[in-house]
Amino acid sequence: MNDLIKILQGIVGAGQVLTHDDPATDLSAWEQDWRKRATGRALAVVRPGRTAEVAAVVKACAAAGVSIVPQGGNTGLVVGSVPDDSGSQVVLSLTRMNAVRAIDGDNLTMTVEAGCVLQVLQEQAEKAGYLFPLSLAAEGSCTIGGNLATNAGGTQVVRYGNARELCLGLEVVTAQGEVWNGLSGLRKDNTGYDLRDLFVGSEGTLGVITAATMKLYPLPAAQLTAWAAVPSLEAAVQLLGLAHRHLGAGLTGFEVMGQFALSLVAQHFPQQRVPLWADHPYCVLLENSDSESEDHARGQFERLLETAFESGVVSDAVVAESLQQAHALWHIRESIPLAQAEEGLNIKHDISIPVSKIPAFCAETDALLQREVAGVRLVNFGHLGDGNLHYNVQAPEGIDPATFLREQEERVNHLVFDQVARFDGSISAEHGVGSLKVDTLPQYKDPVALALMKSLKRALDPQNILNPGRVLN
Ligand SMILES: Cc1cc2nc3c(=O)[nH]c(=O)nc-3n(C[C@H](O)[C@H](O)[C@H](O)COP(=O)(O)OP(=O)(O)OC[C@H]3O[C@@H](n4cnc5c(N)ncnc54)[C@H](O)[C@@H]3O)c2cc1C
Repeated sequence: MNDLIKILQGIVGAGQVLTHDDPATDLSAWEQDWRKRATGRALAVVRPGRTAEVAAVVKACAAAGVSIVPQGGNTGLVVGSVPDDSGSQVVLSLTRMNAVRAIDGDNLTMTVEAGCVLQVLQEQAEKAGYLFPLSLAAEGSCTIGGNLATNAGGTQVVRYGNARELCLGLEVVTAQGEVWNGLSGLRKDNTGYDLRDLFVGSEGTLGVITAATMKLYPLPAAQLTAWAAVPSLEAAVQLLGLAHRHLGAGLTGFEVMGQFALSLVAQHFPQQRVPLWADHPYCVLLENSDSESEDHARGQFERLLETAFESGVVSDAVVAESLQQAHALWHIRESIPLAQAEEGLNIKHDISIPVSKIPAFCAETDALLQREVAGVRLVNFGHLGDGNLHYNVQAPEGIDPATFLREQEERVNHLVFDQVARFDGSISAEHGVGSLKVDTLPQYKDPVALALMKSLKRALDPQNILNPGRVLN
């Protein structure tokens, strides 16, 4: 292995190969996942600065039979970006490759390197007068390469789609260490199989994404946020329908938050003033992006809310009066996972269900869980506009969360995922499979689809050196 380390040092420079040989070097930032559910041990953390270096690193590892774990911001939630505990895997960190290579205003595209932090990308786009709409709570640390590798979703999917829909082209280093330059800015290109779509969402198992060409949009003239209390989840779904009709393409965000989820924010972050939560089972956060003016956006919002009040779909509502107020409302929504973490370890489910079936799914599954595990507390929130719920299960009050997880996680997962399957949903809406769900996937994925996925993996990475044990076993 010393030979490989020397070769890697020769490729990227000795300072960019970090190993445990130097006791002063702390590798935990690369070896432990964001939720602290797994801590591995790497043979080395390698930090290339250019695509050619990535290709040479992959070639050297392939020749030595050493597997590679690609890593971006390490904010993934399914344990896909950290090494196993064998001490034999190389973590390939892309964070030094963070340049914006080009912005093409007429083509409405920007080409960026994989390690570019999402927030930086948004800021650079805005500076040039454009909107890059991918947005998620981890945007200050996650990278566009990680976003594409996980096909990240976030809060604007209802209008702009997932990372996949925002991507026009990719540059990828294959498992053989070859560079595929697919950095196309084309919106139409029917020349055979869509390789880009194959790598998007592949979680580092088929190739290493080194750069991407992403879509840009005109900046909206105004963006307004409203917070509405609704009497039920059925009402929230009806409000979504009304919002689609009234706002059309202006509807850029539609988030739902259950009462218990909001109570955790109010309890753990009392400085945040959470509106309307105490007397209503659910609240909804809506965003209207308008290409005309703030007055136009406000008028549209008022008409929507009037109709919703009249039909009993909304019980109470506030419209943010300033950008600052709008940010404060979004901050409440984004604080739910942190408030939940403050409350203690919990069982997370990132699921999607057809929007129309969500109320029935929740009614049935809430009751089922209460019957099976008395006293469990449900932290239900998410991107209702995309049919994506974070349907999380917190230990009953007074029960040690770690014990709860140890004793109940498998059973609770089964109960929830069986329900998801009954309602034609997916057991992973936006976080991916990683190693956390790799054993669960075969129970719920169509067997033909699973066999096709395995054929693709064998064809593209016959040596199984790219992120083995993730997505597929
Ligand atoms: C507070 C918080 C909120 C979040 N909210 C959302 C949300 O709303 N929506 C959502 O979808 N996700 C969300 N996530 C999950 C996470 O942020 C996303 O999955 C993100 O896209 C991961 O990016 P990353 O750069 O951190 O990737 P990493 O965590 O480093 O890696 C994730 C996966 O991608 C692979 N990978 C990383 N870079 C590359 C590359 N260049 N080439 C090939 N493979 C690569 C890794 O091997 C791993 O399998 C959230 C996470 C946190 C902590």
